[in-house]
Amino acid sequence: MSLNKKVKKNLVFDIVVVGAGPTGIAFACGFAETNIRVAIVDKLPREVVANPKIDGREIALTHHSVKILKKLDVWRHISSRLISEIKEARVLDGSSKYFLNFNHQEIRKENLGYLIPNHVIRESLYKRLRKLPNITLINKAECVSVDINKQYASIMLSNGKKIKASLIVAADSRFSKVRSKMGISVFSRDFNKDMIVCRMEHEKPHENIAYEFFRYNQTQASLPYIKNQSSIVTTATKDFSSNLMKMSDKKFNQEMQNSFNNFFGKMKLIGKRYSYPMITTYTKKFVSHRFAVVGDAAVGMHPVTAHGFNLGLKGLEILINEIKTAIKNKTDIGLTAVLQNYQSKLHRVAAPIYLATNGIVNLYTSTIFPAKLTRQFILRLVNTVKPVKRAFLSVLE
Ligand SMILES: Cc1cc2nc3c(=O)[nH]c(=O)nc-3n(C[C@H](O)[C@H](O)[C@H](O)COP(=O)(O)OP(=O)(O)OC[C@H]3O[C@@H](n4cnc5c(N)ncnc54)[C@H](O)[C@@H]3O)c2cc1C
Repeated sequence: MSLNKKVKKNLVFDIVVVGAGPTGIAFACGFAETNIRVAIVDKLPREVVANPKIDGREIALTHHSVKILKKLDVWRHISSRLISEIKEARVLDGSSKYFLNFNHQEIRKENLGYLIPNHVIRESLYKRLRKLPNITLINKAECVSVDINKQYASIMLSNGKKIKASLIVAADSRFSKVRSKMGISVFSRDFNKDMIVCRMEHEKPHENIAYEFFRYNQTQASLPYIKNQSSIVTTATKDFSSNLMKMSDKKFNQEMQNSFNNFFGKMKLIGKRYSYPMITTYTKKFVSHRFAVVGDAAVGMHPVTAHGFNLGLKGLEILINEIKTAIKNKTDIGLTAVLQNYQSKLHRVAAPIYLATNGIVNLYTSTIFPAKLTRQFILRLVNTVKPVKRAFLSVLE
């Protein structure tokens, strides 16, 4: 990988990616061992991209995502000691003991998926990226303007440098500034809630089972990590979340123990609590001439169904394949005709997951009586009607 110091004033690449988050780096890694020259730009310093801070997110990955990370030669950089298996997932409604159950045997695999801290995934992606001579990482630089014409695209950086390329890819988060500069708008939904995530140690074992407790006004989830630790996820109103963030560790431990109805016995916070606003986004167009959005910049999911990065990986897999096919056919990779294949394929996968997730959040946080009834009915429906359950399980394979 080339570094900043080698960067000249005006640069020419085949692809320029804005955003060296997990999606941007994974996308760039897809061009390893090719002649395609990729520049990847991030506002963060290189040391931060190389050693990402713990951000409280523990990412549940599907089998397909692991396959993609293996293909990108990233998976082997993740220590097996830091990977936990999710064998089963249970969804409970209100105070009812009835639960919707997803089991690994139903997909004929050893587990439903894996749980890995986000900073570990990011670190392993960087380890792979730095070995690739055709990828140039440009740090401490923001994209200040975008210019697209028939022959090429270019971006102007905050450090005064200009990058010309055949294609610009925005991977700069769900609040993508590059997407806005392109005049592309999003469908956005503010749930007016925050998600508090943290790691906790607990007395009783989790037996590698993930739990989602849909209470009223508050959702309490646990994702099984190594030993007797779980990623604890609380979605609640802004006021209550703010209290949860401010209270002492001792009070927080007690609060979580109560929220889980003592399900795990004694609970103890490990490290810090992190808060995320629950705003989802779905970009109205994933592509335009010489431009594409990937990852959260394309679809910013509600984390409750743990699909965000999985969907990001699926999308970049599609885009990489379309670009490689275009190159093989000696076609310009920036043409809308090439990019439109990516748009329609991703839309087909992403739209149902996005709509279903937002629908689930609406239904399972509603306190009105018909919604309470429907919630119970749906859990039973999914559990007992095989094709419905199959549809839910298919996204894990
Ligand atoms: C609490 C929580 C739990 C989650 N759990 C899961 C899970 O279990 N499973 C799952 O699949 N997904 C999960 N997700 C979603 C997952 O974290 C995201 O989908 C993923 O991080 C998106 O990666 P990204 O690279 O697209 O965007 P980001 O991670 O937002 O990275 C964007 C990058 O762009 C850079 N950037 C931004 N603006 C600019 C600019 N103007 N110029 C240059 N650089 C810029 C930033 O510095 C950053 O490096 C969770 C999310 C949250 C919040």
